[in-house]
Amino acid sequence: MASIAIDGPAGAGKSTIAKLVAKNMGYVYVDTGAMYRAIAYYMVTNKIDIDNEVELTKACEGIDISIKYENEAQQVYLNGENVTPYLRTEETGNMASKSSAKASVRAALLDLQRNMAKEYNVVMDGRDIGTNVLPDAEVKIYLTASSKERANRRYKELISKGETADFDKIEADIIERDNRDMNRDIAPLKQADDAILVDSSNMSIDEVVEAIMTAAKKIS
Ligand code: C5P
Repeated sequence: MASIAIDGPAGAGKSTIAKLVAKNMGYVYVDTGAMYRAIAYYMVTNKIDIDNEVELTKACEGIDISIKYENEAQQVYLNGENVTPYLRTEETGNMASKSSAKASVRAALLDLQRNMAKEYNVVMDGRDIGTNVLPDAEVKIYLTASSKERANRRYKELISKGETADFDKIEADIIERDNRDMNRDIAPLKQADDAILVDSSNMSIDEVVEAIMTAAKKIS
């Protein structure tokens, strides 16, 4: 099986790009952020104090995450319930950024992610795929963009959905999340030594996909 790992900070466009690359390659797209968000959703809905080690460990033992594909879209099941529609909120994203720094949360997802890459050819996106989950991935991409550009994309996305949005708050959240992801002790976000850096600040979606497809040509 072959793997393409795409890591990078929040809002860099990883999932949009990874989906398109997966389609072009005929690979399965695995969104690991959604798995962390599903655990975060559990923590929020069950009011778990994630800084209480005993409570957190007990909660993680009671969590079963599984992945299914419906119309080629990844669906995340939490203890048998499809929670995919609840995962993209700011509240869940912010909790995911905090709870994903915890060892028991990361341990709960590592095997699931590795097993998917054993079973299928995958394009897997996240923060630690090239460095930790799939260190032998055939292609590794570190996809980033300036915090202004990432905030701008998120702002436009919210406005287009008819939601209210505060640009400065969005950018501050992005910077805070970057700091947490990059400075945690376990599996922090960083570019793998053998990853190709793609800065999408001034690139179109097609240009980014093209850059990754060029790198992926080395997979026979
Ligand atoms: O990519 P997404 O914003 O959906 O990820 C939600 C959160 O999950 C991130 O802020 C990050 O803290 C965490 N995450 C992680 N490792 C991954 C994927 C996501 O720590 N492989």
